[in-house]
This record gives sequence, C-alpha cells and structure tokens, in this order.
Amino acid sequence: MIAAMNGQCLCGGVTWSTSAGLRDVWECHCRRCTRVTGNYMAATAAPTDQLEIAGDSLAWFAPDDDRNVAYGFCNRCGSSLFFRSGTVDGTNEITSICAGSIVGPSGLRTSAIWFTDDAADHVRIDESIPTFATQPEL
Ligand SMILES: [Zn+2]
Ligand SMILES: [Zn+2]
Repeated sequence: MIAAMNGQCLCGGVTWSTSAGLRDVWECHCRRCTRVTGNYMAATAAPTDQLEIAGDSLAWFAPDDDRNVAYGFCNRCGSSLFFRSGTVDGTNEITSICAGSIVGPSGLRTSAIWFTDDAADHVRIDESIPTFATQPEL
C-alpha cells in the first residue's frame, strides 16, 4: 500500500492529497513555466481521478497562446500548484503537481529536465539527469 501524500499552497487555502503513487519529478524550463513559477517548474504528477483537491482559492490560468494548457495556483497567496494539458475540468487523465507544494519528505527524485534550450542563463542544469532540449516524446 502506498502512503497518502499531501500538499498545500503557502497560505493553506488550497490543499491536495492522493493515495496514488506520485511520479518522479520532472523539471521544465520552458518560457511559460519559467514565468508562471518565477523560476522553473519542478513537478510530480498523479492521476486526476485519484487526486483530491480542496479549498476555494484555487484558480486556473490558460495562456492566451495556448488555451489547451492551464496552470493552477492559489489566488490568495500566489503559489503555483498544478498544471494540466487538455482541459482544466478534471477530465484529463494526469495532473502535474508542483513539487514544492508537497508536505514532508516525498522520497521522489528528479528524473528528467525539459526545455534546457530555454533555461534562464542563471540556472545550472544538472547534467547527471537526462536532459531534453525541448519536450521529449513520452
Ligand atoms: Zn494559498
Ligand atoms: Zn514548461
């Protein structure tokens, strides 16, 4: 049995939990993730239908240039929390979860780094982790 994992935003207005095993963490350095997170995305993921999200301050932002993706954040404290591609209504299969929202040690490791070509010049890419210039085929 996999222990339940949970997380929250900075103010606690949004919380999440899942009993599904969390995926390893992937970093994304694309321009969108850089802007929305304030540096870069580091996200685990869980099946959407096994992810419980609670709280009334969760909001979703879909970029103007791509309405098929959305970032979930707390509209009170501003914490980045989730990412979905497809639709934001929960019908998509996977929800990416910002790793910094996890409460307590996760036991996860970072296993892939995406969009290294777009990484800000102050960022040091860990070359011991598989890197991809853009988005890998999965
Ligand atoms: Zn918050
Ligand atoms: Zn990205």
